[in-house]
Amino acid sequence: MAEQKAKSDAGSAPRSRGLSDERKKELADALSARGVRADCPMCGQRKWTLLDAYLNHNLQAELTGALVIGGPSVPSLAIVCGNCGFLSQHALGALGLLGQDRGE
Ligand SMILES: [Zn+2]
Repeated sequence: MAEQKAKSDAGSAPRSRGLSDERKKELADALSARGVRADCPMCGQRKWTLLDAYLNHNLQAELTGALVIGGPSVPSLAIVCGNCGFLSQHALGALGLLGQDRGE
């Protein structure tokens, strides 16, 4: 395990440090409190893993081929099924968890 980490850190690009354990627990608790199903809707397994970073989906009213940066977006957390890879995304704003990471 330690050897894998050393290899992944050897690249020149700086890496995000990821979410804190405290924040991950807060996100998981928010999903549980809202009754998010424990079984995967695609395969029925219960092998979820919370991604160690947020997804931030850009919103665009038109698909002109240009990527809009800095426009409206939907910051989200995602959990991934370890069996089939199904990705379940949840908007942080709807969970009341938006804007709580500033300064981390
Ligand atoms: Zn699955």
